Amino acid sequence: GDFPIETDTLVIGSGPGGYVAAIRAAQLGQKVTVVEKGAIGGVCLNVGCIPSKALIEAGHRFHNAQHSENIGITAENVKIDFSKVQAWKESVVNKLTGGVSGLLKGNNIEVVAGEAYFVDANNVRVMTENSAQTYTFKHAIIATGSTPVEIPAFKYSKRVINSTGALALEEVPSSMVVIGGGVIGVELGSAYANMGTKLTILEGSDDIFSGAYEKQMTTLVKKNLKSKGVEVVTKALAKGVEETENGVIVTYEVKGEEKKIEADYLLVTVGRRPNTSDIGLEQVGINLTDRGLIETDQQGRTNIPNIFAIGDVVSGPQLAHKASYEGKIAAEAIAGHPSEIDYLGIPAVVFSEPELATVGFTEAQAKEAGIEAIGSKFPYGANGRALSLNATDGFVKLVTRKEDGLVIGAQIAGANASDIIAELGLAIEAGMTAEDIAMTIHAHPSLGEITMEAAEVALGTPIHII
Ligand code: FAD
Repeated sequence: GDFPIETDTLVIGSGPGGYVAAIRAAQLGQKVTVVEKGAIGGVCLNVGCIPSKALIEAGHRFHNAQHSENIGITAENVKIDFSKVQAWKESVVNKLTGGVSGLLKGNNIEVVAGEAYFVDANNVRVMTENSAQTYTFKHAIIATGSTPVEIPAFKYSKRVINSTGALALEEVPSSMVVIGGGVIGVELGSAYANMGTKLTILEGSDDIFSGAYEKQMTTLVKKNLKSKGVEVVTKALAKGVEETENGVIVTYEVKGEEKKIEADYLLVTVGRRPNTSDIGLEQVGINLTDRGLIETDQQGRTNIPNIFAIGDVVSGPQLAHKASYEGKIAAEAIAGHPSEIDYLGIPAVVFSEPELATVGFTEAQAKEAGIEAIGSKFPYGANGRALSLNATDGFVKLVTRKEDGLVIGAQIAGANASDIIAELGLAIEAGMTAEDIAMTIHAHPSLGEITMEAAEVALGTPIHII
């Protein structure tokens, strides 16, 4: 046997959950070891949030360069050198992953390359290609993330790809079919549609995002997709795929009718499953839900008191900032702090066109929870900055408690919704009212004024709308 290496807190996985947990644990005086079997930064930095946003940006620039006639700009021969786009995307990823490595090092965290497997509640074996090493820990944090679901009729191949494959294409496809009109399918699909790909989205339910966003929000996204020639087929049952020499033929059923569609690639984005099956959880007796998620309490603690789990392996939205937030809480809990998870102010964003963002309650959710609430909306089209950005589609909607004006939620569709939502998350966290937002001076002209005006609408005193 080998000699075990001792550590205080062992973190498995270096995604936005794991690396943040590790840094916070080190800040709190723990000796920390991070085990990573793939690339530092996990899915988010390497094959998720960051590279997808880079491709989305490239798509916007290419599309806008060709479609700004209404503001008097035309350009001929706009070209895309996709290998350069990919190289730029990689440079963004490398800058960030290199930064995370530097932060881990700077916090004196030991990073071990290898695959961790639980032996018992105080030991993991870390396997590398030709060696194995035991680590003995006082506490462990499982942050092993998630993997794209593969459905038997759509085995991944050169032409049948998942999100990772879609991020790594070497050329802009002339056509692509997406199965699954969820966030990832719409984001990646739109990026390519903006770069000229003829896109078809097959969605099984009756709306994109499966109804996770309010109808007025998804309607704007669908309108935009349509304007770019994207076909969205809802209630579509994908049945099978046949690979041809340079493409695919996808068979699907809609309204009882079988249809076929040809494309260069089939992108399957039907969900992600937690990485909980090959890490020895049964050796320790860690409880899983029937969906394979790790059961945890308000501090991220599993049923084994010295082992925690965070991020995509536990329940809740599969979002990077949720993983990081849980990572901080778990590290603080290990250090004996009374920190607890509270999802009230957690935002969710779709980087579609327009962007969608939501935090807290929708009007419908407030009603369900027995809260008497009012929704107040202000449109982008009545805001000077939005007009001058040529981005007039959308609105900010506040949900406030009727009795006292407390901000309990917000939904935004529109340019930079991903940034604007931050103010509303803060308002919820700080227990602010519509009046607090209305009385806050917002710079002119700015999209932030839309939020201020939505608050004025809640108070019945908007200046720029009747
Ligand atoms: P991960 O990031 O999945 O990291 C887990 C790490 O654990 C991996 O590096 C893996 O190699 C490692 N690991 C697994 N098993 C072991 C083992 N046994 N031993 C050692 N290491 C192991 N979220 C957002 O909030 N915003 C976005 O814009 C966004 N865009 C996305 C776009 C795409 C295309 C995808 C796929 C996802 C996107 N997400 C986004 C989701 C986000 O990436 C995840 O929610 C987030 O990465 C989860 O973080 P995590 O730390 O739980 O796990």
